Amino acid sequence: MIIFKQVKDLTKYLQKQQAAKNSIGFVPTMGALHEGHLSLLKECKKMSKITVCSIFVNPTQFNNTEDLDKYPKSVSNDILLLEQNECNVLFLPDEKEIYPDERSKQKHFDLGYLETILEGEFRPGHFQGVSLVVEKLLKIVNPDFLFLGQKDFQQCLIIKRLVGLMNRNIKIIICPILREESGLAMSSRNLRLSFSDRKLASELFLTLVSIKNKLKSEDFLKVKDQAIQDLETKGFKVEYLELAKKNNLEIVSHFNPREKLIILIAAFLGDVRLIDNLLINP
Ligand code: AMP
Repeated sequence: MIIFKQVKDLTKYLQKQQAAKNSIGFVPTMGALHEGHLSLLKECKKMSKITVCSIFVNPTQFNNTEDLDKYPKSVSNDILLLEQNECNVLFLPDEKEIYPDERSKQKHFDLGYLETILEGEFRPGHFQGVSLVVEKLLKIVNPDFLFLGQKDFQQCLIIKRLVGLMNRNIKIIICPILREESGLAMSSRNLRLSFSDRKLASELFLTLVSIKNKLKSEDFLKVKDQAIQDLETKGFKVEYLELAKKNNLEIVSHFNPREKLIILIAAFLGDVRLIDNLLINP
């Protein structure tokens, strides 16, 4: 694996690959890699000649400085994992390389309705920060394929919109959520959970499955209220629990068996914020 820290060196290398007609697959991450990230890399390897992974903890997408400061970092282990999984290129820029000055942070993206709900509502500015960094990364890497995780489902739709705004021909592949045996969605933030909270955290997934099973016979809004109450009794602080249309995340109040829907949840356990989702009629 070749590690690039500077944009100019990476660009030179990738231009050569493009001239040789080698397809480029890209997996952007914030590091503290786990099996979920590696599953994206595996898909990327299947489809592309050159696999590029990036690790950059993007400050502009954190609306809470404590969350940024406490974000887990394990670069040497990440490099080892990427080597073992035969990644070809790691882009590991420092902050100045991505944001050389304040001006490079000042851009507004027209994300429409998508940034006003769910994660957008509870993390103001978050998707502007995501778009800012992803646009820069896509311009640098110029990939044929972009691999994203369903774990961050709303982010996938935002990035689809961004790629449309950029007018780029990049194929986006959304990979399924990898879970621990307990059902807990793998996440770098899980490293911050205490032993007992990590066990408790699987309740989020169990709740989504239980709601899915009840949807056909019970009213969603009643099921939702009960689920939030149960989770809060167990120690969660639920930010949202919603049923929405899969294609545009329009929030709905009732289950419709003919529609492709998704249940999405965000909740705090202590000071760790967890998100998860489950597709209905995928
Ligand atoms: P992050 O490092 O959290 O920014 O995640 C980088 C990419 O990995 C994003 O596209 C995530 O959606 C994806 N990802 C994170 N967790 C998982 C998981 N448990 N299963 C599959 N993909 C994931």
